[in-house]
Amino acid sequence: MSEISISVKNLNVGYLSDYGIIKVLRNVSIDIPESKIIGVAGESGSGKSTLATTIMGFVNPPLYVERGSIIVDSKYDILSMSRDELNKIRGSVISYVPQAAQNSLNPIRKVKETFTDILKAKGMDYYANIDVVYNTLEEVGLTDRQVLDMYPFQLSGGMKQRVVIAISLLLNPKILIMDEPTTGLDVVVQYEILKLLKKIQKEKDLTLVVISHDIAMLFQISDYIAVMYGGQIVEYGKYNTLLEEAYHPYTYLLLSSVPTVRSRGKKLPRIPGDFEGFIRYPKGCVFSSRCPFVTSTCKEVPPQIVAYDKFGFYKCIRYPEWRNEVKKAYE
Ligand code: ADP
Ligand code: MG
Repeated sequence: MSEISISVKNLNVGYLSDYGIIKVLRNVSIDIPESKIIGVAGESGSGKSTLATTIMGFVNPPLYVERGSIIVDSKYDILSMSRDELNKIRGSVISYVPQAAQNSLNPIRKVKETFTDILKAKGMDYYANIDVVYNTLEEVGLTDRQVLDMYPFQLSGGMKQRVVIAISLLLNPKILIMDEPTTGLDVVVQYEILKLLKKIQKEKDLTLVVISHDIAMLFQISDYIAVMYGGQIVEYGKYNTLLEEAYHPYTYLLLSSVPTVRSRGKKLPRIPGDFEGFIRYPKGCVFSSRCPFVTSTCKEVPPQIVAYDKFGFYKCIRYPEWRNEVKKAYE
């Protein structure tokens, strides 16, 4: 039985604005098992990066944690740790690669100098740890050590992403959170990076959390998938369960909009409309205004979490009835 690597309970996070706090994450709860790949899916603006940065403890204004708890590696209570305590575990227990990190490598520092900075911040010397550096480069497929003497502009997009991954692995963390690791890379490079992430996860027995708006990509690599919509996780479970039997209509519609997954000659259901936004937040189910299977209760009452195994859950009062309606409508 796998242990729990990250446990998030009833997390409510907002952003301070001129109009007060804009609530973004609403009662987010999720248990992330150790040594697995967990995909976090959801359209842009659904709160994926907010969740990742809060898990990392980057809780500075305007980000505001209203309530909730985050326990990492069964012992680190992220939201009650000091900045120094957090800095100690960042990189060594839990690492984070932000969105578009490959574009934020310091342009006037050689790769070597960036590595030096990272190690120095942890009180470690670059030359004393050169073997660690070489090993890490090898792990990410950068076999030519000349890369250390290069500036970011001399590297391709894929190489930059490998450098960024190497930086995140330098201190041998147990957990790695990657935010949109393939966005902005061309298709072939995306594939190579996914292959690399899978290989590293296996070799190092990492807990790897991959965040992406690209659900098709996530289904290629994940063991578990969490689907976010409007600041909530509306469904979470094993990837094959979600693929075969989505419990939430949003998951089903997201998957149906990927041509290769299940369509081929069938009518592709579209998701009509837009999310209302966090200011005019829906009263009942967050997806109710766009859901083809909506009832008046859905619009009025927020659905409870229905847990069906150790990790899996969904938030929909219409399951399993909506599946029968789907069959009539699309299949
Ligand atoms: P995702 O990563 O899924 O695209 P985000 O977590 O980045 O979503 O954003 C969720 C919501 O929070 C969006 O409506 C976004 O505008 C808002 N948001 C994100 N960062 C900030 C910020 N620094 N200040 C104010 N609002 C923010
Ligand atoms: Mg994001």
